[in-house]
Amino acid sequence: MTGPSRAHYRGVIVGAGIVGLFTSYHLARAGAGPILVLDRGFLSSGASGRNGGGVRQQWETRATVRLAREAIAEYRRFGREFDYNIWFRQGGYLFLAESPAELERLRRVHSVVASEGLASRLLAPEEAARLAPGLSTSRLVGASFLDSDGTLYPFPAVWGVYERARALGVEVCFGVEATGVRRDSGRVSGVSTSVGPIGAEWVVNAAGGWSAEFSERCGLPSPNVATRHEILATEPLKPFLDPMIIRLADGLYVSQTMRGELVGGLTIPHRPGTSGGMASSVEFLPAMARALIDLLPRTSTLGVLRAWSGFYDDTPDGLPVIGPDPRLPGFVHANGFGGHGFMLAPASTRRVAQSVLGERSDLDPAMFGPQRFLGPGSPRASERLQPG
Ligand SMILES: Cc1cc2nc3c(=O)[nH]c(=O)nc-3n(C[C@H](O)[C@H](O)[C@H](O)COP(=O)(O)OP(=O)(O)OC[C@H]3O[C@@H](n4cnc5c(N)ncnc54)[C@H](O)[C@@H]3O)c2cc1C
Repeated sequence: MTGPSRAHYRGVIVGAGIVGLFTSYHLARAGAGPILVLDRGFLSSGASGRNGGGVRQQWETRATVRLAREAIAEYRRFGREFDYNIWFRQGGYLFLAESPAELERLRRVHSVVASEGLASRLLAPEEAARLAPGLSTSRLVGASFLDSDGTLYPFPAVWGVYERARALGVEVCFGVEATGVRRDSGRVSGVSTSVGPIGAEWVVNAAGGWSAEFSERCGLPSPNVATRHEILATEPLKPFLDPMIIRLADGLYVSQTMRGELVGGLTIPHRPGTSGGMASSVEFLPAMARALIDLLPRTSTLGVLRAWSGFYDDTPDGLPVIGPDPRLPGFVHANGFGGHGFMLAPASTRRVAQSVLGERSDLDPAMFGPQRFLGPGSPRASERLQPG
C-alpha cells in the first residue's frame, strides 16, 4: 500500500475497477487533473477481474444499445489506443428462446436493435444450431443473433486503462479505503480515508458492488443492491463455438475462449448484499453442470478448471446510475452497472466525465440520473434483458 502523494486533488474517484479507471482516463484526457483513484483492494479485485468478458449490443432500450455500440467501437480500437491486446473477438451473441413469450421478447429486442442500424437477425432453431454446433434444440423455438457482439479478456483491458491513465498523470492508490465524504458550505470538499483526509472538489462513486455502502457512508441512501453471481471455466476443447450463447429461460450463458475453455455462468439465488463474500457455493457446480449439459450435451465429460464469483451492482430498473447527485453538489455517480459494466464502461464513463466537468451529456437524466430514485413515483424506463 502506498498512500496518496498530495493532500489535495481536483477530484477523487472511489474504485479502481473498469468504471473508475475509464472515468479517470476520460477526465485526464480532458485536462481535469490532478486526479486520485482510490481502491481498498488490488487491481481487478472487484467484478472487473471476475466477469465473463461479454460485450453485446442487443438490449431492450435504445439508449443502452447506443452506449454498447460505442463501447464496441472503443474495444475494437483498444489495441491501438492502449497498447494492450484484449483478445476482442466478435463471434456474436446468440439469445435462445424456449417459449412463445420469450420469442416475442426477442422480437421486440430485435426491432429496437435493427432500427438502430445493427444487423440483428431472428433465427429458426436449425439456423441457431448451425451457429452453435452440438446445441440441443429440443425445446428451442427461436433465437436472435448479432454478429458484431463478442467477448474480450477483461484483465488486459483493466491493465491497459490503468497504465494509460497513469501515463496521463492519474494517481492510483491501492489498499486505501474511502470512508466518507467531507463537506464545506454544502458541497464536497474532499474524502475521508483510511490514511487520513484528502481535499477534492468532486468525488465519483465507482465502487461497484459496494457503491451503496459508500453512498450511505456519505449520508446519501442508495437503492443499489449487490448480488453475488457465480461463474466457471472448463478445461479446453478444440474450438467449436463462435458466439456467446444465452438462454433466456434460466439466464445460462457460455462462450468459448481462444484457448478453448468454456466460460459461463448461471444465476442461482444468494442472499443480497456483500456480507456473504465472494466464494463459490456448493450449489453452483451441479446446477451449472446440469444446465450446460442440457444446452450442449458434448460437455458431459468436461472437467471444471476453476470457479469463482463476484458482485453485480444492481439497480431497481436495471439501468446504471450516471450523473451528479442533487443532494450533494460535487458528488457524482458511476455505478449500478449490474452484470454489464464491462461492456458499457468505455461509453458511459465518457458521460460520467462530462457530468464531472459540468458539460451536457446525451443521456436522459430522468433515465440514468440518481434523481430517478429520489422522488415519488417509479423510474421512467427499465432494462430487463439482464442475463449475460
Ligand atoms: C460473474 C460475473 C460475470 C459478469 N459478466 C459480465 C460480462 O460478461 N460483461 C460485462 O460487461 N459485465 C459483466 N459483469 C459485470 C462487470 O464485471 C461489472 O459491471 C463491472 O466490472 C463493474 O466495474 P466497476 O468498476 O463498477 O466495479 P468493480 O470492478 O467491482 O470495482 C469497484 C472497486 O471499488 C473498490 N471499493 C469499493 N468500496 C471502496 C471504498 N470504500 N474505498 C475504496 N475502494 C472501494 C473495490 O475494491 C473494487 O475494486 C459480470 C460480473 C460478474 C460478477
